[in-house]
Amino acid sequence: MSLPVHAQREGGSDRGPSSPFHPVDINHPTHIALVEPDTAFWGLVARDRLDETLAGGPLLETWRAKAADFAREMDMLRFHLKPSAVYFNATERCNLNCSYCYIPSDMRRGGTQMDRDRLLAALETLHGYFRGHMPADRLPQVIFHGAEPMLARDAIFAGIEAFKDRFRFGVQTNATLLDEEAIAFLTGHGVGIGLSLDGPTARIADRTRQRWNGDGVFDHVVRAIERLDGYPGFNVICTMTEENLPHLTQLVDFFHEKRVPACMLNVTRCTQPGARGLKGDDKAVSDAFLAALERTHTLYRETGRKLVVANFANILIAILAPTARRLMCDISPCGGGRSFFALAPDGALFPCSEFIGLDTFVGGNLFTDRIDDVLESAPFRKVIDRKVEDIEGCDVCPIRHFCGSPCPAEAHEMNGGMHRKGAFCAFYEEQVRYAMRLIADGRHQDFLWDGWDEGTEVACAIGA
Ligand code: SF4
Ligand code: SF4
Repeated sequence: MSLPVHAQREGGSDRGPSSPFHPVDINHPTHIALVEPDTAFWGLVARDRLDETLAGGPLLETWRAKAADFAREMDMLRFHLKPSAVYFNATERCNLNCSYCYIPSDMRRGGTQMDRDRLLAALETLHGYFRGHMPADRLPQVIFHGAEPMLARDAIFAGIEAFKDRFRFGVQTNATLLDEEAIAFLTGHGVGIGLSLDGPTARIADRTRQRWNGDGVFDHVVRAIERLDGYPGFNVICTMTEENLPHLTQLVDFFHEKRVPACMLNVTRCTQPGARGLKGDDKAVSDAFLAALERTHTLYRETGRKLVVANFANILIAILAPTARRLMCDISPCGGGRSFFALAPDGALFPCSEFIGLDTFVGGNLFTDRIDDVLESAPFRKVIDRKVEDIEGCDVCPIRHFCGSPCPAEAHEMNGGMHRKGAFCAFYEEQVRYAMRLIADGRHQDFLWDGWDEGTEVACAIGA
């Protein structure tokens, strides 16, 4: 059961008779949020001025003046993007057997893998597609993604070398195969590098991330983090599970000490049954997550060096400047199949890597079908057409455009259909409350990348 985000005013109704604003109690001592859900417009008002603000004044006037512009902006963001990125799975195989992996184990043990020629042909086709609609000064993005891309290292490195001027590249790896030579190649080519580590000690980290024979990989990942010291383009993902929640604050200390520039503290995606058994409950996840965020703030204040928690920073940005967000899970429809798609080693195209292994979500094949047709296929439309307005509970939720009700894959597999919520409703509510509290206290910039707002302009600022 999720916590109510609506603040009920005494007397019954939760907003004025004609007010478009929904009060959201953010658990702040002096302030409350007012949100107009459809346009994602919001303001923070003193609790003792709630009634007069709902009745009229600058907030309402500004919303009336700008509502059509904001609605257009949200409509563009939600329904009119074209893909600019691809999650490129060059191999189904993995040398690890992590407990929560979304890729079925038989695929990871012995699945297919692209060779060099096939990978180069795939990049050529993708480049032709992206160039058809992206401006010449903007490079499309290719992220080599799970299972373990470094098992296809020779083919991937050949692709990066051949297409280095035509794509921005990233690689998401378990780090076990990142030797000196690989790191020199990737950093020398400016490739974004994401690693995975679930705990500050081997005892904790190795509970969820292990080799097939049960051996842990903590030492390998730490060695890779140390080798990447000083490289700005790397981050570390931690998947929050029951196993590591009590140690999240310690993990943040560990990342900061290792000079990791950004991390993600992700919830377990519950698409596959293995992940569901490890999922912490919303309250435990929220408490641990917010404590870890506070710890990053203390560390920043003590040292002047930030450890940005990127998935939370994205929620803050979704509130401050909706169209500037970088990740596309917390918007509805999510980015799957519309701002990016995923490619499997046999050429199969999925809306998102999260669907790999679910055959009914194959929209077509890169080597035989037109990408534009695949984007309109029934499996893709199923994901692209999932929107908060059609999900019971989310349809009346004031923060629905800061949350997006992720994730369609887990809603489908765990909760019985696309038009159900995902697994962590109450956790998303807590994140939005906390983000609003930070804004109320003027602390929010400390949780964001320096320069995150370059290229944005202030569309609206009222009061102090
Ligand atoms: S919400 Fe799920 S399907 Fe959508 S982009 Fe995120 S992981 Fe992929
Ligand atoms: S939009 Fe998010 S926070 Fe709101 S009800 Fe849906 S899942 Fe919960």
